[in-house]
Formats: sequence, structure tokens, C-alpha cells
Amino acid sequence: MNDKKNYGFTTTILHNDRLKGIEHGSLHKPIHTSVAFGYADARQLASVFQGKEPGFRYGRQGNPTISALEDKVNKMEQGVGTLCFATGMGAIGAVFQSLLRAGDHVVSSAFLFGNTNSLWQTTMGQGVAVSFVDATDVANVAAAITDQTRVVFVETIANPRTQVADLRRIGELCQQRGILYIVDNTMTTPYLFRPKSVGAGLVINALTKSIGGHGNALGGSLTDTGVYDWSRFPNIYENYKKAAPAQWGLAQIRAKGLRDFGASLAPEAAHHIAVGAETLALRMERTSSNALALAGMLEADERVAAVHYPGLKSHPQHGISTELFRSYGSLLSFELKDGIDCFDFLNRLKLAIPASNLGDTRTLVIPVAHTIFYEMGAERRASMGIAESLIRVSVGIEDADDLLDDFACALEGC
Ligand SMILES: *Cc1c(COP(=O)(O)O)cnc(C)c1O
Repeated sequence: MNDKKNYGFTTTILHNDRLKGIEHGSLHKPIHTSVAFGYADARQLASVFQGKEPGFRYGRQGNPTISALEDKVNKMEQGVGTLCFATGMGAIGAVFQSLLRAGDHVVSSAFLFGNTNSLWQTTMGQGVAVSFVDATDVANVAAAITDQTRVVFVETIANPRTQVADLRRIGELCQQRGILYIVDNTMTTPYLFRPKSVGAGLVINALTKSIGGHGNALGGSLTDTGVYDWSRFPNIYENYKKAAPAQWGLAQIRAKGLRDFGASLAPEAAHHIAVGAETLALRMERTSSNALALAGMLEADERVAAVHYPGLKSHPQHGISTELFRSYGSLLSFELKDGIDCFDFLNRLKLAIPASNLGDTRTLVIPVAHTIFYEMGAERRASMGIAESLIRVSVGIEDADDLLDDFACALEGC
């Protein structure tokens, strides 16, 4: 694409492949399944291996279908480089494993996707110290930082309780201290929010969720925004310092994270995600307005004890959400009053489906404490503000009236 022209968000996603030239004038980037790439000149093969010229080597480290998606996500996040992975966890695991060493310290938001929390426990077993803090206030992050702190890690809107990290002020703190700031942007997506704008050095997206958007493919991505000065990061191996410092981080993550751990995105999945991403903006507008309507209705219902949605004025981070996000996203959660069984309630819903995914076109519901946050136990759940009756809703693109009726009816007991 002519990078000098500033196309809008959706125009860029739709036309990015084509303007770079697609094989045979095909309108979708084809699904390349070849694992190997042949070179007529063996010297060229060597030069690609040595990183002296661009080219594909072996499917685990990328292929043309995946590169096209990486470029698209990179444009969405306005980064300097993006890598795709088999899953969101693949991306997060690659970052933790390739950048952290025993003796390092990390400050992480305590309000985390359950599997990220579990992965931190593994990383702690490998000798990395992790302080979990309430990241809705930068003061808690500042108080936890030590000379060994290499990374601060937060999610934008935490799943499932929707706490919003003090994103801008944590970015300023990390900038002052030279600490790498990593933001998981899954819940907001680059359409609602660009973490680069608050100083994030690395941005993670679970492409499985809203970006792919149809619950038919797993994928994850990692974007280097270009904001972080890698020459300040002590854990870069000499091998990956050959190019300019701006490229050190991704060079090491590509080799140590993607190549060595092998959580590579499948080309078929890359295709599904790329097609899904074409309507990301449209879906986020619709799911956000549906979620706001549903949250308002639930909040006004006397059978509901609490509703957590950043779009509600009652939400503790409503102000910062309004300031930073284009709209409030598709994730909400709520608690029923004592005496209403959450399983009975869920079983009365006719449209919303009890299922574990987010960012689907269909509305999905799940009783959090009994499923996705079951493994961590009651004590840690309580520390994360997760009530035993909490129901998470990933709001879909259904017609708003149908959706609201479904929840109203289930509350009535019909
Ligand atoms: C789902 C999710 C992930 C992990 O993505 P997968 O593709 O399921 O591995 C990471 N972070 C957040 C916030 C998520 O919601």
C-alpha cells in the first residue's frame, strides 16, 4: 500500500493485500500451504537464512499468507513489525520465554485472563519474580517496581471483571524508568484503542477473539510499536543485535519464541482471521452498542446485584475508558442476587449460548467461577473481585431487541 496515503481503518484492512500485489489478481491472499520454499540460486537461500535479504525459509517461521496477515495487524496497530502465532497464548508464551530470564522481576496486573495468570505461575517456577498489582492505579505499579523489573504487563479491559488499567500513566511511568510496557489489547482491539498511543512497546492481540471474530479460527499476534528503545533491554542476546536496536526485540522473539517453541499460525487459520478482520470495525460498533444497551437493562433490574461494563457511569474507570477508547467493547459481566441460581438462569436463555469464547458474532455466556476461573481457587478469585455468581457475557451482533428480550425473559423466569 502507498503508505504516504492515510486510509481509514477499514479501507486499509480491505485493500492492504491487493495494493501490495496479490498473485493472479486474486482478491484474497491465497492460502499457501507449502512448508518449504525453493531457491534457484543456493546462495540466495543462504542469504535469506542469514537475514541479509527477505524471503521465506521454513513454514514454522512464516509464509506468504501469514505475512499478509502480519502486515494487516501491523497497520491496525501502527507498529514497526508484527508476528503471528497459533493462538493468543502462543504469542504471550513466546514473549515471556524469549525476553525473561531467572532473576528478573515483572509487574503484572492482577486482573488477568486466567491462562495468562497460569502462565505467570509457570514463569515464576523458572525463577522470574512476578508482583501482581491492582493496575487500575499507577501508584500500585510504581510501588512494585524494583531495579530488576524488566516488564510491566497489563490488559486493557480485564476479562471478566472489566477493570481498566491506568493505561496512560503506566505508560509514562515505564517510559521514565526504561521498562518494557506490554499491553494485551484483546478486549479493545486496535479499532477501539491503540496501546502505542499510551507508550506500549509490545502489543498482544488474541486474533481468535474479535479480530477473527467468528469463532472459527485460533490465532495470536505480537506487535512491536517502535516506542521501546531495545538498547535499554538487558536480555537481548548478541546474536540478535546485528541490525539496528529497533529490530532487536522482534528478532529475538521471532527466533527464541516463534521458531524455537513453534506455536506457528496455520495458513488456513490466517485466511479465516484475515477475512474476519475485514468487518472488525463494523462488528465492534454493533457489539459495543448492544453491550451498552444490555448493561443498562441489567443494571436497572432489581434481580441483578452488580453489572460490570466500562460504558456504565457506575463503572469505576468509566472516565478513563471514555477518554481512551472509541467505544466500550463487547465484554460485560454481572452478578445475580442471592437466591437466583446462575445455572438455572443460563439455562433459560434461548439465544445467548453457554460457551467459552469471546468476540464471536453470537452472544456467549459463561459462569466464570465454575469454569474458566475454577482452577485458581476461591481465594485468588476473591482477590481478583470475581464473585461466585459472576456471569460473563461476550455480546454478539444479534438484533438488540432480540438480545435484550432474551435476557429479560430469563430474568423473569419464562
Ligand atoms: C483469549 C485471550 C487470550 C488467549 O488467546 P487464545 O487465542 O485463546 O490463546 C489472551 N488474552 C486475552 C485477554 C484473551 O481474552
